[in-house]
Amino acid sequence: MKQSQLFTKATKENPAGEQAKNAQLLIKAGFVHKEMAGVYTYLPLGLRVLNNVMQIIREEMNAIGSQEIFLTALQPADVWKQTDRWSDEASDVWFRTELKNGTKLGLGWTHEEPITNLMKNHIRSYRDLPVFAYQFQTKFRNELRAKSGIMRSREFVMKDLYSFSRTKEEHDAFYEKSKTAYLNVFNRCGIGEQTYLTFASGGAFAKYSHEFQTITDAGEDTIYIHNEKRIAVNEEVLDDEVLEQLDLNREDLREEKAVEVGNIFTLGTRFSEPLNLKYIDENGQEELVFMGSYGIGPGRLMGTIAELLSDDRGLVWPKNIAPYSVHIVSLESKDETIAARIKTVSEGLYTDLIQSGIEVIWDDREGVSPGARFGESDLLGIPLRIVISEKTLAEDSVEWKKRANKEMQLVKIEEA
Ligand code: ATP
Ligand code: MG
Repeated sequence: MKQSQLFTKATKENPAGEQAKNAQLLIKAGFVHKEMAGVYTYLPLGLRVLNNVMQIIREEMNAIGSQEIFLTALQPADVWKQTDRWSDEASDVWFRTELKNGTKLGLGWTHEEPITNLMKNHIRSYRDLPVFAYQFQTKFRNELRAKSGIMRSREFVMKDLYSFSRTKEEHDAFYEKSKTAYLNVFNRCGIGEQTYLTFASGGAFAKYSHEFQTITDAGEDTIYIHNEKRIAVNEEVLDDEVLEQLDLNREDLREEKAVEVGNIFTLGTRFSEPLNLKYIDENGQEELVFMGSYGIGPGRLMGTIAELLSDDRGLVWPKNIAPYSVHIVSLESKDETIAARIKTVSEGLYTDLIQSGIEVIWDDREGVSPGARFGESDLLGIPLRIVISEKTLAEDSVEWKKRANKEMQLVKIEEA
């Protein structure tokens, strides 16, 4: 990508009325645009990061045997009435609307109902189970507070996976696999070290649900961490009984603020029962399907990474999710011959990197000062910066600098 072609512009100005660090940085760098409180547009660079995050999640979900689908955001009220989740008392986040003929609709804020209903077409006998299906879908939630930038928005993409099993045992086996898959996701996204498997309340079908909580001051949750065991307990469930069950001592736990980047939940027959999702078992008996749900917010994850892995100069993307791996920055020269050489060397490197399958953005703009280029490069947070200038070419070299480190070094052009 040539930066001269990129339509977004970075700015030094702090966006007015934006409190969250993640959104401040992402808006300044031109990754997202704030449409209104809790509603953000993803611009080219931001969308590349979001897509990278989603691709990592997709690979990990496919690896545990689940299949991608795409449900609808428009939801008829009927099916939600059957599970008692249409009313205000059941859910205060609905955006409700209606058809011209008066039929009530809502914008989906989760998808247990439609997918359970859908599976009635596909699950008949024990031979059809288990089934694991997931999607990346826009969810709409009329969140009361939306002050955390893209970490809590009113319209956001969620990866939601649903499991359909014969028995609790079959469910548990997949549930365990999903934990590993989730930890893989957070490791690959560069926040594995700060992310803890956290025990939270489980509902009617399991003692606990599990959250994946990442330590950050921007988080809205409080968790209690056991360092050696690498597990945590959400404040909301933390009592003497829980401590005993998990074999933890309160003195060994460290309190931290954290954000829930994902969660997994045993649903049991909470939805299969009211919606009548059954299968015929080996003995010809009808049984209710046993379900689970598994969510991750890719935008919340991206916002969390922006919070954690940034510094006073801007974003610092880990390589796996960076919009580009390399930022070539070409400085200008008043000397025409040198200017021409800078251009040739830059273009050669740019083409070579693309041909090697490396994603590169090239600051090829004209009339921009070196200071402005470096400031912007730091703000964008591309992992590796390669500067080509009169000074470096005098040594037949380019300047090589990792965004996360202070040191720079000269590298011969051919080596680069
Ligand atoms: P929270 O407790 O933070 O309100 P939740 O428990 O309601 O979240 P779920 O409904 O289980 O969240 O959603 C699954 C995942 O979707 C969450 O773990 C989180 O990563 C993401 N998510 C939830 N709400 C939002 C939101 N408003 N904006 C962005 N991501 C969200
Ligand atoms: Mg939660």
